[in-house]
Amino acid sequence: MRNPHAGEPFDTSDAEIAEALLDVSIPTLMVSMVHMANDPEIIRGRLKPEGLFLNEVQGYMSEDAKAEVRALALGVIRDYRDRGCPEPEPISAELLHEMMAWLVCEEVPAEYVPMLLEEMELDGTDARQVKATLPDAASAAFPVVVIGCGQSGLLAGIRLKEAGIPFTIVEKNAGVGGTWWENSYPGARVDVGNHFYCYSFEPSDQWTEFFAQQPELQRYFEGVMTKHAIEPHVRWNTEVLGAAWDDESATWTVRVRTADGTEESLEARAVVSAVGQLNRPHTPEIDGQDAFAGPSFHSARWDHSVDLTGKQVAMIGAGASGFQIAPTIASEVEQLTVFQRTAQWMFPNPNYHEAVGPGVRWALRHLPFYGRWYRFLIFWPGCDKGLEAARVDPDYPDQQTAVSEMNDFTRQMFTDWITSQIGDDPDLIAKVVPDYPATGKRTLQDNGSWLRTLTRGNVELVRTGIDHIEADAVVATDGARYPADVLVYATGFYATRVLWPMEITGRGGVNLREVWGERPAAYLGITVRDFPNLFCMYGPGTNLAHGGSLIFHSECQMRYITQCIEELIAGGHQAMEPTRAKYEDWHARTQAEIKTLVWSQPSIKHSFFKNAYGEIHGLSPWRLVDYWTWTREPDFADFEMR
Ligand code: NAP
Repeated sequence: MRNPHAGEPFDTSDAEIAEALLDVSIPTLMVSMVHMANDPEIIRGRLKPEGLFLNEVQGYMSEDAKAEVRALALGVIRDYRDRGCPEPEPISAELLHEMMAWLVCEEVPAEYVPMLLEEMELDGTDARQVKATLPDAASAAFPVVVIGCGQSGLLAGIRLKEAGIPFTIVEKNAGVGGTWWENSYPGARVDVGNHFYCYSFEPSDQWTEFFAQQPELQRYFEGVMTKHAIEPHVRWNTEVLGAAWDDESATWTVRVRTADGTEESLEARAVVSAVGQLNRPHTPEIDGQDAFAGPSFHSARWDHSVDLTGKQVAMIGAGASGFQIAPTIASEVEQLTVFQRTAQWMFPNPNYHEAVGPGVRWALRHLPFYGRWYRFLIFWPGCDKGLEAARVDPDYPDQQTAVSEMNDFTRQMFTDWITSQIGDDPDLIAKVVPDYPATGKRTLQDNGSWLRTLTRGNVELVRTGIDHIEADAVVATDGARYPADVLVYATGFYATRVLWPMEITGRGGVNLREVWGERPAAYLGITVRDFPNLFCMYGPGTNLAHGGSLIFHSECQMRYITQCIEELIAGGHQAMEPTRAKYEDWHARTQAEIKTLVWSQPSIKHSFFKNAYGEIHGLSPWRLVDYWTWTREPDFADFEMR
């Protein structure tokens, strides 16, 4: 069978190929040429990228150099086509490593290579899949309930199915996608490049934008669900209310409520929580808000029946969601007032709204491993570099606005990006340049649309606090009154309340919420002491603010979880839970580590990363390569197996 990433054979004409090459990433094209021509000299000559930028589209080379490469490529591709597009010969590990370093213009440390090769699947093998090895009868006696059918719940279903383990996914919504089902607000789009932000084993050559919008993302997950025939396992419109562990029978009883309000129980030997961290909308309590006469709704519960044309809209909150909403609705509304408590740092990304040209889609479909190398190209700049950049230098003098020299450099770069767009309007500069260290909250992707929006005549950014809301206005603490017909709360989620509001009771009837309090913890972000056979995806300590992608983390977690469940079945065990020592040691080390990073800085007053005590329990302070290594294979000595 042909390697699925070697590209589909084609008979595209020379002219059409030449046309396609005008769109593509030139460095990525060159490594694909190495495969096609089986000739490493293609990357050993004068033509090479001059640098690497996060989210690059065409590559950092002069236009003349790009033209030269295109001319060369036409010959290589034509020859490959005329030979019938044979599957390329495998390439040695050394040469692959050389190609990696060449593509990203820097050394790729050897410790990363196995992880990257696995992510790229150049050998056509999905190494994160756990194959079914157990007798059917043994697996049949081990039903699993997965809570949630978003990105991670769908993945859980796919992996359990491959392993031959029976499962039911319970999803409160009517369809797949989780975040990408619920957040349908105008302008919702992903901010990790889509050719990386998709399952490693389900790449798509169909993305129409480099950072797809919500409908396209939801369709992607829908397509993957259909392809893997997961839907028959899903109970839609069914919410998990709680789960209780019975030690004697070693089973979970999962309490659910269906769409018509009926409550039922499902029995499971293991539960996989795939509920996400940003799932329960947070609407702050503001005096008078109930008296507001017009429509009001949260960004994650957008009311599409409300026509904003010609309306005065007040939007409270401007984090990642508000930052996308404002530019999208500004031209439609009569007046938009944005209430922003804290200014946000933004990362310059000129390609953020760029469409994927037809040539790129042709290359993804036909050129051997083009898509795999492009995936790597997007992955690499966000692969652990952000973590080093986030580290606090305790000797750095001005901890208020920067935590290290590198962090100060980032502040300068981001500040220049902001001020270059708004000129020398001191009032606006004072409002939009953050007063806390760069990257200290979640950094937003920006192509200039935010500040362009703020300089429109019908848009006002208010940084004064809100005092109260009246029937037709929002009133600020300085007494200023901002008339409003529609109120949008872009005020985020209850991010620190993990697995809330479900009631989960473990061994001896202990309640998970009481055990955790404000400090949720899980060994490797996955398993919890006293809660046997409960496995979390995107659990405590696994959110990413330093790069990577949550899909990458989910794939690591689900490989680990599937192996745990296989071991439970194969070993005839009833239950497993991490030893107390492992669980506590992990949490203590994670806490110590997170305190050395910029997100913990006390000068950051408001951040959904922080709990009531200013501590962070949701984020990962760990390198992706370490997390990948630790979760590759469970060490059952870390567990009490019963
Ligand atoms: P968020 O980042 O938590 O932002 C909430 C906004 O509401 C902030 O401006 C916050 O101000 C404000 N706010 C909250 N409570 C308030 C109060 N009581 N009074 C006044 N203002 C208040 O929420 P989000 O924008 O929905 O984004 C959440 C996360 O979802 C993101 O960080 C990201 O992980 C994800 N997301 C990603 C994308 C994407 O991929 N592009 C898009 C949307 C969301 P403060 O900053 O002062 O707290």
